[in-house]
Amino acid sequence: MLETPIDTLPRTSAKTIAKLQKLGVHTYNDLLHYYPFRYDDLHEISPISLLRPNELVTIHGTVETMKNQRTRRGMYIQTCTIADETGKITITWFNQRYLAQIIKPEEQIAISGTVQPYRGALTIQPTAFEIINGNELIHTSRIVPVYPQTRGLSSKTIREKMWYILSLFQKEDIEELLPEKMIAAHRLMPLNQALVQIHFPSSQTLCKKARKRIGTDELFVRILASRLVKKDWEEQQVTQAMTIGSDVKKHVSTFITNLPFELTTAQKKVVKEITADLQKKKPMNRFLQGDVGSGKTIIAAIAACICALNGMQTLIMAPTEILARQHFQSLSTLFKDMDITIGLQTGSEKQLKTKKEIFDIVVGTHALITKSVSLERVGLVVIDEQHRFGVKQRAALREKGVHPHVLTMTATPIPRTVMLTLYSELDVSIIDEMPKGRKVIKTHVVPKVKRAAGYEWIKKQIAHGDQVYIVCPLVEETEAETMQSVRAATAEYEHLKNTVFKNQTLGLLHGKMKAKEKKEVMDRFRDGACDVLVCTSVVEVGVDVSNATIIVLEGAERFGMAQLHQLRGRVGRGEKQSYCLLFTSDEYNKPTERLVFFSKHDTGLELAEYDFRHRGPGEMHGTRQHGYDDLKIAELSNTKFVKEVSEMVGEFMINYKLSSYKKLEQIVQTYSIHQIAKD
Ligand code: ADP
Ligand code: MG
Repeated sequence: MLETPIDTLPRTSAKTIAKLQKLGVHTYNDLLHYYPFRYDDLHEISPISLLRPNELVTIHGTVETMKNQRTRRGMYIQTCTIADETGKITITWFNQRYLAQIIKPEEQIAISGTVQPYRGALTIQPTAFEIINGNELIHTSRIVPVYPQTRGLSSKTIREKMWYILSLFQKEDIEELLPEKMIAAHRLMPLNQALVQIHFPSSQTLCKKARKRIGTDELFVRILASRLVKKDWEEQQVTQAMTIGSDVKKHVSTFITNLPFELTTAQKKVVKEITADLQKKKPMNRFLQGDVGSGKTIIAAIAACICALNGMQTLIMAPTEILARQHFQSLSTLFKDMDITIGLQTGSEKQLKTKKEIFDIVVGTHALITKSVSLERVGLVVIDEQHRFGVKQRAALREKGVHPHVLTMTATPIPRTVMLTLYSELDVSIIDEMPKGRKVIKTHVVPKVKRAAGYEWIKKQIAHGDQVYIVCPLVEETEAETMQSVRAATAEYEHLKNTVFKNQTLGLLHGKMKAKEKKEVMDRFRDGACDVLVCTSVVEVGVDVSNATIIVLEGAERFGMAQLHQLRGRVGRGEKQSYCLLFTSDEYNKPTERLVFFSKHDTGLELAEYDFRHRGPGEMHGTRQHGYDDLKIAELSNTKFVKEVSEMVGEFMINYKLSSYKKLEQIVQTYSIHQIAKD
């Protein structure tokens, strides 16, 4: 029943079904898990005589008259008078002639909306109405769920479909996920009740309990999946433990000394951590996090070097062929003076297969593991910018009797709490320091009142030969570039060209331009033929322009942390001191705490931590988050809650057998492999 496809929904247009499917809703069950993001509390019925302006209210009354009038301008106005025991009110709709067919005199009606003064009296700006007539009311007169609306699919439609589906289910239809005993012991709301209450709460208290229950389930399966992977991992033994004797030590330190630079303190620390791991019998499962440019590749190279000196092979997997080729090249340079062989294996270059040669290091895409011919000597697997090392890939190696050490590297910052709960199987290393010589980008919040001075300062810098990016704000809350943001950028470009930057050369760049035009603009900017580049936030500026030292973010308060961080990274590529100016809009004359924090911190991880702490329930700040974006209800920033659920998982692992809980087992399995399944 739960798996019924949504295209069987009665009285539902093909268009609506297509829109639901676009949201990822394919079955009744999917729809039940499409949760409201807020509720309008309209459960109290207000007497008409006691209405006050600006209140959001519900009234119940009898329709006295309903008129449909044509105005002189050819519009249609629907006017309805409604009375209850305390008074009367007139309500108006515009151009909804069909309403006269539905709202008829004598009918009992419920209306919700905001009270407004109108011609010396009060009216209600109606957001919803329902004919009472013994019907259950779902759009008014209750705590009304409000759903995220996308592309013309209204909250009202979703609410109606939800109501229909919930009415179909007898209580027994929805199978529990967790053991009954645990539900009782932790005073959780039963799942079937929680699903009703999360959509149509009968009180605020029950709503809270329902959200807690659903959030618990979400987090429970994720933590359980992670713990099981961890347990499984700990039970493994590497085929052959590595040793770091004096000979290996000598070679490795020569390699490090011969580098054209000195390792940063952070890099040295990570090398120590990894070196310790490699000598253990338990395979390493380490996660290395460091901003772009922090120098992760060299860490992988050092680990691979130790591995090779122990007579074992290293596989390095990059997400794309281009990146694989880049790694191949930089590793070849790094190891040019050593007796370490490096191979490249991508879809187009099948060196391994044709030559049947075994390299010390093989670089390729993630298909390496499943395709590689010989895996017996693999001692280390390095995964760059990829998600977790999946169960599937490990199984492929295990089949061949190999349990390698694994190092996963990423520039995506993942908050500590997330690491500890959802990725608990991983040990974490962090590079929180950039190589020497890179200057911190000075960041300033510039409120409206200081904007003129800001422009003057920029002009001075331009006179000294610097170049500037001006990034226009997001117009809509989507990540994709819309026509609207293209228009806004174009308008800003015209405006600046004719006012502030009359005497400078300007360029415009946005995603709707032809590739050739884009290239021309970029080339001009790179060659210094243009002082200021006005662009939209999403357009990928592919070329490093080291002479561009200033980036202005217009409407800075509208960008998410991750996006601010990414945009700021466009400057500071060269020797010169770089600047990031956060221009805020009218209503933000006082900079928000968030922007001030951003202006004072520069590592991705610090920013992600901040974002994480301040993330409201179900709220997403722009860019896709990493690994926890599909938690719809569970609040990971609620430490008490996270602790409680973690303890429940511990309890479950001791007292219950997962295989006796089929539904749970099935979901847990999707979580322990889902990262890989996405590829
Ligand atoms: P990422 O962490 O983004 O993968 P890379 O490993 O590609 O960064 O390193 C970026 C650049 O910094 C490379 O050119 C690398 O040679 C250089 N680099 C790495 N470590 C240092 C260091 N300690 N000092 C100076 N330059 C370094
Ligand atoms: Mg890298």
